Amino acid sequence: MAEQFDVVVIGGGPAGYHAAIRAAQLGMKVACVDAALGKDGKPALGGTCLRVGCIPSKALLDSSRQFWNMHHIFGEHGIGFDKPKIDVGTMIGRKDKIVKQFTGGIAALFKANKVAAYYGFGQLQPGNVVTVKQHDGSTVELKGTNVILAAGSDSIELPFAKFGEHIVDNVGALDFDKVPKRLGVIGAGVIGLELGSVWNRLGSQVTILEALPTFLAAADAEVSKVAAREFKKQGLDIRLGAKVGKTEIKKDGVHVTYTDAKGEQTIVVDKLLVCVGRRAATKGLLAEGTGVKLDARGMIEVDAHCHTGVDGVWAVGDCVRGPMLAHKGFEEGIAVAELIAGLPGHVDFETIPWVIYTEPELAWVGKTEEQLKAEGVPYKAGSFPFAAVGRAVAMAEPAGFVKVLAHAESDRVLGMHLVGANVSELVHEGVLAMEFKGSADDLARICHAHPSLSEAVHDAAMAVHKRAIHKAN
Ligand SMILES: Cc1cc2nc3c(=O)[nH]c(=O)nc-3n(C[C@H](O)[C@H](O)[C@H](O)COP(=O)(O)OP(=O)(O)OC[C@H]3O[C@@H](n4cnc5c(N)ncnc54)[C@H](O)[C@@H]3O)c2cc1C
Repeated sequence: MAEQFDVVVIGGGPAGYHAAIRAAQLGMKVACVDAALGKDGKPALGGTCLRVGCIPSKALLDSSRQFWNMHHIFGEHGIGFDKPKIDVGTMIGRKDKIVKQFTGGIAALFKANKVAAYYGFGQLQPGNVVTVKQHDGSTVELKGTNVILAAGSDSIELPFAKFGEHIVDNVGALDFDKVPKRLGVIGAGVIGLELGSVWNRLGSQVTILEALPTFLAAADAEVSKVAAREFKKQGLDIRLGAKVGKTEIKKDGVHVTYTDAKGEQTIVVDKLLVCVGRRAATKGLLAEGTGVKLDARGMIEVDAHCHTGVDGVWAVGDCVRGPMLAHKGFEEGIAVAELIAGLPGHVDFETIPWVIYTEPELAWVGKTEEQLKAEGVPYKAGSFPFAAVGRAVAMAEPAGFVKVLAHAESDRVLGMHLVGANVSELVHEGVLAMEFKGSADDLARICHAHPSLSEAVHDAAMAVHKRAIHKAN
């Protein structure tokens, strides 16, 4: 006999755990099913994000940044020491400790909110029943008045580059036991740039092969240009229009063959990171006859409110359309829990911030200049460089700028594009302005602390109306 719940969530990642906790806060009886195991072989909630994504990658980005600064920045401050060394084992151990702290934190939050956790593989059956094959081999049945599918995503494997010891995805690249002398990366997207940066800073010779002819086409073109210049200075070798067609593991390393404008070429690397995208983890999730539909890419089909069209069945996060970002999943999880409770629930894709945590960081929200031009929207742009911001220069972080885009007539903020230090934090001024339907003039009239990096936002907003104080307009 199936145990009855108001809500059964399949997947305990960002989208699923937010849905579960919010539903419990709203007084519902909730179960959450998750199949993942941590490095210690024990159940680990938090999904890709906490185990092998956002958090561990940021831990390694921070460790490698300290190491890089010791080599390249500390001298400017007059700080000297003998040659710095990196103990990869200690660095990975620190990352694992952070992961354990946060995955354990979700289990504690479930307990505090009385969310029943089931550890095993969940499958939706017709009639909103979820069967769970638990890790001990037993099977339980849960019945949900509502079921929320939050199965997340997995790395895409290329047929000619199977994952193993030498060819890895994010999971492997977050766990190298030593710095690879030569690291190849297929895909110059967020994951390739972040993990490529980690190992480059620690001494790897990193070559990134990107099939597209344009670098970071999703970002504003001026932002990508500055980022490309800074990455080049750091030694990242990014080759565009490079289509990889073959890999071979030989004695001297992985031979990666690609074709670009110059013809066929081969590089030899010690490790190859493949990060060419992720696909919805929907294999085995749905039994016959549930009525839930998958699209051609295996994503669960949903409407604007994350409803699958099957009574009481919803889907959120990476396994449905939209950006594959943890915070997009957070908001969808909360929105669906609130919709189930009869409250309004909504996620505005136009105001989702994007961040790439390289050095400098890239961040943006809203439309790029290229999009506004293509859509024929009249706009004004104002930008301001960090090189003219006292705090940035004092921090030895002068690279980059902030750009504010506003409607030419209404002055409403349509986008904000940033490249520089800590812009992952600054972008939220743009998010807030857009959510509140604010104008560039609103941003310009807000008092910003001096000296702070946020002054670049202030002056960029003033520059929209050619009244920036700290630069010629
Ligand atoms: C290296 C890397 C870095 C990233 N960095 C960032 C970042 O900085 N910021 C950001 O916003 N995003 C980042 N992302 C993306 C982010 O991790 C994902 O967008 C986010 O984790 C998606 O959340 P989710 O809940 O939809 O799915 P997931 O996090 O994938 O969680 C799904 C969970 O469901 C479980 N599951 C799946 N199927 C079943 C089943 N049938 N039964 C039981 N359990 C099941 C899985 O085991 C998993 O635990 C990064 C990703 C990677 C790989």
